[in-house]
This record gives sequence, structure tokens and C-alpha cells, in this order.
Amino acid sequence: MAKEGYNPFKMAQKQFDRIADKLDLDEATRDLLRNPLREYHLTIPVKMDDGTVKIFRGFRIQHNDARGPCKGGIRFHPQETIDTVRALSMWMTWKCAVVDIPLGGGKGGVICDPHDLSEKEQENLCRGWIRHLSRDIGPVRDVPAPDVMTSSQHMLWMMDEYETITGGKYPGAITGKPVELGGSLGRTEATGYGLVYMLREALKEMDMEAAKTTASIEGFGNVARYAAELFIEYGGTVVSVSCWDQIDGCAYSYYKEKGIDLDELLKITDHFGTIDKRKAEKLGYKARPGNDWLKHEVDILIPAALENSITEENVDEIKSSVKIIIGGANGPITPEADDILEKRGVIVIPDFLANAGGVVCSYFEQVQNNQNYYWLKEEVLGKLDNKMTDAFYDVWELSKRRKMRVGDAAYMIAISRVAEACQLRGWV
Ligand code: NAD
Repeated sequence: MAKEGYNPFKMAQKQFDRIADKLDLDEATRDLLRNPLREYHLTIPVKMDDGTVKIFRGFRIQHNDARGPCKGGIRFHPQETIDTVRALSMWMTWKCAVVDIPLGGGKGGVICDPHDLSEKEQENLCRGWIRHLSRDIGPVRDVPAPDVMTSSQHMLWMMDEYETITGGKYPGAITGKPVELGGSLGRTEATGYGLVYMLREALKEMDMEAAKTTASIEGFGNVARYAAELFIEYGGTVVSVSCWDQIDGCAYSYYKEKGIDLDELLKITDHFGTIDKRKAEKLGYKARPGNDWLKHEVDILIPAALENSITEENVDEIKSSVKIIIGGANGPITPEADDILEKRGVIVIPDFLANAGGVVCSYFEQVQNNQNYYWLKEEVLGKLDNKMTDAFYDVWELSKRRKMRVGDAAYMIAISRVAEACQLRGWV
């Protein structure tokens, strides 16, 4: 029999069911939470540069808004599927709940490759997407943000279309805007820094001194480089980072035993996060195969590039020196690898908790927009640190008390908060 293809929504529902059993949730609450509240399937006509009209398919899924307006990115991707968007919207609900921000979960997508579209065509597509949804999104309903292959420019076109239709100024309708037009300071650093704020607390709890620890990181994009920056600032040593090499069509990890020098590597990295191999070797880095990053004798691993990067197949290559793995990318560790790591006593801080700094800062952006008053970067990062630290201890203490893995404790907190909101509202 043919093996059923990977379906992210089925996986998200399976994860949910496991925790719903532990929480002993009633049937109605389960049925409500394992499905999105609302789904919009869009057929968007777009005027192309050659005068023709092309039809694009898009989606917006609002998984749950019991705790506040839905929040989540919009992706442009040629292989976008409704089930990917459903799963991502559900994970956004849990992510916002676990860090206790008053938002629900949503996600959007359009089946397209923006590389094949001119700037004007992309603008028409963004405006078309909003024309379909202007009544159903907005600061008090559902707040989109950039995601895979969408940028702050796409968000500005969307915000402009939304304001044109509604006839007011609503910068809080969309986040991820440039700082000059309602964006928040600190958003660029937020995901990587947020992860390291949590890591700092986890190390304290594990009686490890950050300044004496070593880490290896997968990726060298937005999340990875800011995680590296703050970890190094705390005195830690990053021995390896990795990236996709466009020219060679494969990934490399770059290793330096004494630790990478972030500034020198950034000078030879392009805006896609690709390090120049020849120049790196000249600077004394060893260029090794992409998956080498997880084979080093380090204390900490930070997968911050891709989903499914630590699997049943490669988990045994992780050295016994590794005490903690903290997820930067979305879905970097498969459930099978997670089970093996648990048996080995490795602490795994799950992605939806550790990489929540981005959405926390998007929430701060919205708060600043709504009050029409903007905070200094230090203020944003200080508030972010408090949020991430509080969320970490909520989860950590439950995990100790109930003797369960950190990931399960995070899901328990998130799902029970959303369930409680639905019950308090009298929905179930
Ligand atoms: P990015 O595009 O800035 O960087 C991605 C990095 O991964 C690049 O350095 C790229 O070269 C590298 N890479 C790609 N393929 C690789 C491979 N096969 N092996 C090794 N490296 C590879 O992306 P980002 O914003 O840093 O996001 C990374 C991950 O974190 C994604 O899963 C994203 O969904 C997730 N995430 C990002 C944010 C955010 O705020 N940026 C928030 C939450 C989650």
C-alpha cells in the first residue's frame, strides 16, 4: 500500500489529540479546537503586465480567536496547500497562548512564486487578496504579517488597500511594516534574541554558565544570526553555523574551533543568508557538509533554518555532550527524534515556545500602532525579555511538577489557556 503523504494538518491534529487526552478535554472542546473556526478560499483575478488577467488561488484560515484577534503570516509559495495553512494557523494559536499574548491564531497563503511576478503584478496580487478579505481582517479581527516570500513592502501595499477600502488609518491592521511607517524597533532581532533569553534561563536552571558553553547553529539567516549575536554577547562560543549555497546547490556548515567571529562572517554573507565559501575558507573556517552542524561536541544545538532537520535518521549523530536543543525554525525536530532525545535525557525547548519572540514583537508593534506612540528599542527588547522569561518559567515549572517533557508542558499550557477562553465565553 502506498505510504500516505506527509500532511502537516493531520500532524498538528495528532499533536493536539495527545495533549487533549492528557488534559481530559471534553468532546465539544476537542472538536472545536482541532479545527479552524473559519476558512476563506479566495479566487483572485490579477491584471498582468501584458494586459491579460491571471487567476490566483489564496487562503486565509482563522483557527481560533477566543483570546483575541487572529494573528499570523501570509505566505507566497508555489506549493502552498490548504492543509499547510491550516496547520500553521493552529500552531499560531498555541504560540500566542503559550507566551500569553491576547491574540489567536491565523495564517494565509497564495499559490504563486513571486520570482515569476513583476513588482506591479505582486502589488496587484496583494491588493486583490485584501479586497477579498477587508471585511474579515483588521486590528480587531485578524492581523496578517510577512512570512515565507512576503516582505514589508507586500505588507504596506496590503495596509494601503485596507485603509483605502475602510476609509481610515489602521496601521495595526497589519504588522511587519517598515519602522518608518508604523513598524516596531527590535522586530529584526526579536526572534533570535527571544530564543536566547529563554536559553539563558534554561541554562541557569540546568546549573550551566552561559559563558562556559558552546553551541552549533543550523542556518545563518535572521533567526540564526541574532541568536548567535546575543549568545556570544552572553559569553558563549558558537563553533559552527550553516547555510544554503546557491552556487553549489547544497548546504555547508562552517566550523571554527575557537568560535566564529560574527562580524567577519556577516561581511561575507549575502542578503539570503549565504556565506561566501571561498572567503570563509580564507578566514580559517572549515567548510563541511551541511548536516555537519549537528555532529559537534557542543553543549547546545540551535536548529534555525528548516523544518524536519533533526530526524530519526540523524538523531544518533548528535554527540552525548549536547544537553539542550532549542528550536529556532518551525518544526525542526520530528516527533520520532524528539522521543529518542527524551530517552537520552536531552532537554528540548520546542520551536513554538522558543521562536515566539517574533510574534511577541509583532504584538508590540500592534500595541504601539493602536496607541499611536512608539517605544525605544531598549524598551521593546526589555518587554520582550520579560515575556519570554515568564513564558519559559510557566512551562519549565509545569514540566518539573508533572515530570513531563518541556514540549508537552508547553502544549498543555497553551491548549488549556485557549480551551478556558472558549469555555469562559460560553462557546463550549
Ligand atoms: P532566513 O531566510 O532569514 O534564513 C534562512 C537561513 O537558512 C539562510 O541562512 C539559509 O542559507 C539557510 N538554509 C536554507 N536551507 C538550508 C539548508 N538546507 N541547510 C542549512 N541552512 C540552510 O529565514 P529566518 O527568518 O531566519 O527563518 C528561519 C526559520 O525560522 C524558518 O523555519 C522560519 O519559518 C522560522 N521562524 C522565523 C521567524 C522570524 O521572525 N524570522 C519567526 C518564527 C519562526
